[in-house]
Amino acid sequence: MIPFRNSLPYDIQMNEVYASECPFCGTAHVRLPLKPGDVLDLRSGPGKRAVVFPCCRNRLQLIDSDDDYLMADRPIRR
Ligand SMILES: [Zn+2]
Repeated sequence: MIPFRNSLPYDIQMNEVYASECPFCGTAHVRLPLKPGDVLDLRSGPGKRAVVFPCCRNRLQLIDSDDDYLMADRPIRR
């Protein structure tokens, strides 16, 4: 079970994956360098995926997903 503090809300629009808000700099609606297929791969497998936020160049390691959240390997909520 991954703690809620590690979760990042996301949506998919026009085949692009957006974070509702960057956990590092607070920018709203950030397009992530991920495709919807990558989100499904995280959900179905033991895979990991590093993403770099384009707004502030911070890097986050993703380890799981569900319909609403991407899950990181460390806490990202205060
Ligand atoms: Zn940012």
